[in-house]
Amino acid sequence: MNNNLIRYITSRIKNSKFKCKNCGLCCKTSEIMLSAREIGGISYALNIEKEEFIKKFLELKKIHKTKIIENRIYEISGECYVIKKNNNGDCPFYIEKDNKSYCNIYEYRPIVCRLFPFTWEYFPDTNSINIDYSENGWNNCQGIEKNKQSNWDDIRDIVTGNVILSMIQSNELQMNGKLTQKLKIN
Ligand code: SF4
Ligand code: SF4
Repeated sequence: MNNNLIRYITSRIKNSKFKCKNCGLCCKTSEIMLSAREIGGISYALNIEKEEFIKKFLELKKIHKTKIIENRIYEISGECYVIKKNNNGDCPFYIEKDNKSYCNIYEYRPIVCRLFPFTWEYFPDTNSINIDYSENGWNNCQGIEKNKQSNWDDIRDIVTGNVILSMIQSNELQMNGKLTQKLKIN
């Protein structure tokens, strides 16, 4: 899939800077979907059985999200495992200590977390991807400085690496027949 993959970025990425400020906001606001591979990886990291991990930390949730990229609207709908939030809305793996934010499973954190605040759209006919900020990211991420000269060259490899992992995860989620993604025509 990624051989000769053509990468495009949107103008709002070109006209902004991004550097994570470790504010932890994405760990308080994002819905974290997990593929079977990620469930296996995090259970391994926590040294518990997959079934125990699912029972304790996940819930099967009906998903209905819209994703807007360059004025096109995508709908993602179906069911998948998501991380159960604490009562205060935080991810259970999120830790705040001495005014700093930490992820308790950082090395194994899901691709949704790695990709934030970015998102992507894939065009199979040209084997190209269009990378943009997600709406939640654009509106809320503390690390985005709008109307600044881009530092895209500095983050290109990290972002596109995570985009490719996210594409793999998306295929995995769709392959289990529980999640579909379609372009919504208004
Ligand atoms: S909201 Fe943005 S700046 Fe804050 S931790 Fe998440 S990615 Fe980093
Ligand atoms: S898994 Fe880690 S990075 Fe992802 S939301 Fe939870 S605390 Fe944040």
